[in-house]
Amino acid sequence: MTYNIALLKGDGIGPEIVDSATRVLEAVGKKYGHVFNFTPYLIGGSAIDATGMPLPEETVKGCLASDSVLLGAVGGPKWDTLPGNQRPEKALLGIRAAMELFTNLRPAKLYPALKGECPLREDIVENGFDIMIVRELTGGIYFGERGMRQGQYGEEAYDTECYSRMEIERIAKVAYETARKRRGNLISIDKANVLESSRLWRKIVHEMEKDYPDVVCKDMLVDNAAMQLVRNPAQFDVIVTSNMFGDILSDEASQITGSIGMLPSASLGNTSRGLYEPIHGSAPDIAGKNIANPIATILSGAMMLLYSFDLKAESDAIVNAVDKVLAAGYRTADLAHGGEYLTTTEITDKIIENI
Ligand code: NAD
Repeated sequence: MTYNIALLKGDGIGPEIVDSATRVLEAVGKKYGHVFNFTPYLIGGSAIDATGMPLPEETVKGCLASDSVLLGAVGGPKWDTLPGNQRPEKALLGIRAAMELFTNLRPAKLYPALKGECPLREDIVENGFDIMIVRELTGGIYFGERGMRQGQYGEEAYDTECYSRMEIERIAKVAYETARKRRGNLISIDKANVLESSRLWRKIVHEMEKDYPDVVCKDMLVDNAAMQLVRNPAQFDVIVTSNMFGDILSDEASQITGSIGMLPSASLGNTSRGLYEPIHGSAPDIAGKNIANPIATILSGAMMLLYSFDLKAESDAIVNAVDKVLAAGYRTADLAHGGEYLTTTEITDKIIENI
């Protein structure tokens, strides 16, 4: 098969880590008989420098015409003084909206070889953990009615959380199907003891249970979930939650893995075309030095193979290669704590050797 992938390298370490991911994808293509055609488009600060805009029309068109999109990261001090709507980061919201991506998948996995990176006590993470957070991305309080007004005690500001049946059903469907492909456990996180929108969320999530007899679905209140993530992260398989709760909990979950350079993500919509990117930023402090950890971007490529192209064996080949390289003791600078480390290029070569 031939797949056309739009590359949004972006700024800072973006070009280095995207180049690593494309080399790994090419190695997978060679082994399994697929052709990946990569077309680069400008985004973020580099797009501002070249065109005056963080998200040129040509980039949007290119992404919409592709089979899937791989993004590095955007932003850097050079563009920090620009007004909010002209900043590189504005392009991220723009491309997600243009591609109508309503699901954000964020895995948080603690690799046995990297247990020492986890800030939690050793006995809590003895067996590691592997969580997939399914976050609703285009609804809820971040997109609800908002405003300012004069109230009895001076000025007031308000934001509204509103979820429709359609929005809840489509995200719950992704969550059930994700759980089905993993360990079959789904925890839906809400605040149904207080919020009306959460009560509708909970009702609809459970209405859909009958279509997924192979998945066990339970509810958890968001305050309890925040505690449980640090008390016993291994109890979670798939989490589904609203935009704001997912925003907060996915950052908490990423921190307990202790390694920001390792975590991929996927944003999906109604088509197989997705946007895949590491969760970290453009790391301007280490850009151009060939020391960035490319694994989050390489694993984003693995997520693309699974979620956009349904190539499970090929995706697993990347994940297993990363596992092997870490288990063999190879580390990038961010994980080496002053000890010996491999450069971005060298760790990529090691991963390719293990494909
Ligand atoms: P950051 O994630 O870029 O960096 C935080 C720290 O983690 C830095 O010390 C960095 O060197 C390190 N780090 C990050 N990724 C790494 C990797 N792959 N390998 C090794 N070390 C890594 O966050 P920040 O410093 O707050 O932001 C820098 C810029 O990135 C800002 O302009 C910010 O707006 C932007 N940003 C972009 C995105 C995105 O493109 N999705 C996300 C977050 C931040």
